[in-house]
Amino acid sequence: MSDCECLAGCPFFNSKMASSMTAVAQSMKKRLCQGDNTNCARYQVFKKLGKPKVPADLIPNQTDRAAQIIAAG
Ligand code: SF4
Repeated sequence: MSDCECLAGCPFFNSKMASSMTAVAQSMKKRLCQGDNTNCARYQVFKKLGKPKVPADLIPNQTDRAAQIIAAG
C-alpha cells in the first residue's frame, strides 16, 4: 500500500473535480489514492490505455464504467 503514482497530477486527488470534495471522496482518497489504487477506476484506465483516455469526470468508484472504456479500447 502506497501513494498512487498518479497522485501529484490527479484532478480527483487534488480536488479539481466537483465530485472530489465530498466526504465520500475524502474516504476514497484515503482508501484508493493512498492505499490500493488498483481498485480505482481512473487508475485502471490509466494503466491499460494511458492518461489521455481517462475521462475528466471519471470517479474512482466507477469501475464498471472503467471496464467498459477499457473494453472499447
Ligand atoms: S488512485 Fe485514482 S483518483 Fe487516486 S490519485 Fe490514483 S488515479 Fe487519481
